[in-house]
This record gives sequence, structure tokens and C-alpha cells, in this order.
Amino acid sequence: MPAAREVTLIPGDGIGPAIVDAAVRLLEAAGARFTWDRQLAGMAAVKALGDPLPEATLDSVRRTKLALKGPLETPVGKGFRSINVALRKEFDLYANLRPAKTVLTGQRFENVDVVIVRENTEGLYVGIENYVKVGDDPHAVAQSVAVVSRSGAERIIRYAFEYAVKNGRKKVTVVHKANILKYSQGLFLETGRKIAAEYAGRVESDDKIVDACAMELVMRPERFDVIVTTNLFGDILSDLTSGLVGGLGLTPGANIGYDCGIFEAVHGTAPDIAGKGIANPTAVMLASCQLLDHIGEQARANTMRAAIETTLRERKTVTRDIGGTASTDEYTDAVIARLTG
Ligand code: NAD
Repeated sequence: MPAAREVTLIPGDGIGPAIVDAAVRLLEAAGARFTWDRQLAGMAAVKALGDPLPEATLDSVRRTKLALKGPLETPVGKGFRSINVALRKEFDLYANLRPAKTVLTGQRFENVDVVIVRENTEGLYVGIENYVKVGDDPHAVAQSVAVVSRSGAERIIRYAFEYAVKNGRKKVTVVHKANILKYSQGLFLETGRKIAAEYAGRVESDDKIVDACAMELVMRPERFDVIVTTNLFGDILSDLTSGLVGGLGLTPGANIGYDCGIFEAVHGTAPDIAGKGIANPTAVMLASCQLLDHIGEQARANTMRAAIETTLRERKTVTRDIGGTASTDEYTDAVIARLTG
């Protein structure tokens, strides 16, 4: 039997520890052979070690190249910069894969199956920001720089097309705002059209302006398959697509680089429900399925996904955010009870 694979486990803040524990219970019940290197980041790390991203955590991910992570609290408008953004930069996790698929019946749409491929290292998230002092107001003007490089655009758009080929997806839509941001978004669109031409005959493609895309996603989401876009647009549109399939509690996100992957939920620390035992662990459970896909254990991932989907469809033991009364633990037990194969 092969040796157990070591994975860095970052429980995170707020509901993080509860939902990450639920995912670990499911993985272990499904027979995944991992040893967990538990590490701190975010507010939990500030409280314990005075550092939101301790060197020990970085060293662990450098060694394991694989992490399952809970959400991390980021102070809004002040304090330390997002640790999620720092991790993506440190490990060059350029592709953020956020699938949204209808599982629950009775939603506004019955047939959503969209994958957002978000560029994860450039755009407006590069952190080049400054204030300009005018008169005696030091914050009279604020500037944020959006960076799009040809190489950055090429690798994420190529990733989206390759993802489509490998996963039997039919179409890739390049989403942009090149009508207004003619340089940065213009370069992204130009690169998208060039790469789309390389895949002609294998993968359909089109391009859409982000505002029109948002409207169409809400009205006719079945028209979309794979969407590739820049950092900020991907962040926003992936919350939108989460909303189309039942909310943030259901959508996972993989952050993938050339030799490292960090897997998490799309949602945040949910401070309003932290500590109440009612958080929905589905998103981080599905993120652990993405982790298994990433290391070639698709069969186990599919078994886990089937157990999650059956439990959700039955709606007997589901959490409050999706209309049930179950606790995090009760829902996790129900999913584990449905593991077959
Ligand atoms: P949030 O996603 O934490 O919460 C938004 C709403 O969704 C809340 O009402 C919450 O209760 C609900 N919700 C989210 N996840 C849920 C779950 N699993 N089960 C049931 N309900 C759930 O967004 P926010 O309130 O804007 O952010 C809170 C904190 O999380 C902030 O500090 C933010 O920076 C951080 N955050 C972190 C990440 C990450 O680490 N990847 C992502 C987004 C936000």
C-alpha cells in the first residue's frame, strides 16, 4: 500500500475549524489516506503567534504542495492584507477553479453547470495602491493599479481551454471589460481570441463584456459552460453563480499553480453563525473532492460527490442555510452514511 500523503490543514477562522473537521471526517470515512499537518493562518495565527501568515505554515505548504484550508478573516479597509491573496502569490496559484452546479431541486434554475476559471494573481489584486494628498487631505484621492500581463493572460486562458478539453466541456467564454479598459482588459481579450483560435474545432468559444455576462448569467445560466476572466470579475461572478445553485455554502474553490494546490470554500468565515454548530460544510467537502481530483483520485472524489449530492437532494438532513434544521455534525454523519462504492 502506498504511503499516506501529507497534506497541510489550515482550519482558519470563524466557521473554518468546524467545516474543515467535517471535510476531514468525510475524507477519512471515504478511505483517503492522508496525514494532516495542522497549521495556523489568519486571525487564529495572529492570536496564537502574532503573525497572520507564519513561516511554519508557508514551510508546510512548500513541503506538502497540497493544502485544505478554511476561510480566513481579513480586516476590511485596514490592517494586514488578505492572507488568501498572499498565499496565491507565494505559491503562484494562478488558476482559481470555481464550479457551480445545480444539485438542490426547487431552485430558480434546474440546470446550472458553470465553471468559473478566475485569474488569481494579477488584475486589481496585485496590491499596487496609494493615496494622493491634496491640500491638507492625505486621502483626497486613492488609486489602485490593475495589472494584466500577456504571459499571465495566456496561462489562465490556456488553462481554461485545457480544462474544457480534459473534462468534456463544450464552450469557453472569455469575459472582459475591454470596451472601457482598453489596455489591461484589451490585452486579456486579444489573448483570449488568439488562444480560442488554437482550439477551434475542439472547443467552442465566445467573448462577453462582464456586465452583459452578469445579466445573462442571472437570466439564462444554461447558456454558459466554462467562463475565464480576470481576478476581480471572477471573484464577483463566482459569488453570483454560487447564488444560482443555492448559496455560498455549496461552492468550492481550487487554487492551482504549476506544482501546488490549495483547496477551500468560496465563502468566508461567516462570523454571524460561527460557534453555533450550524455551518454548512458542503463547500469545503467539495473542495476536498477537488483536492482528490488534483492528485488523480477521481474515483474517490466521485464517490464523495455522489454521497453529498444524494444527501442534499433528499433534503432530510441538511443545514439551515438551505432550508433544513440539521447541525454541521448531523449533516456530515448523513453524508458519511451515504458513502457507497
Ligand atoms: P461570508 O461568506 O463569510 O458570509 C456571507 C453570508 O453567507 C453570511 O450570512 C454567512 O452566514 C453565510 N455563509 C457563508 N458560508 C456559509 C456556510 N458554510 N454555511 C452557512 N452559511 C454560510 O462573507 P463575509 O461576511 O463578507 O466575510 C466574512 C469574513 O470572511 C471577512 O473577514 C472576509 O474577508 C472573509 N473571507 C474569507 C474568504 C477566504 O478565506 N477564502 C473568502 C471570503 C471572505
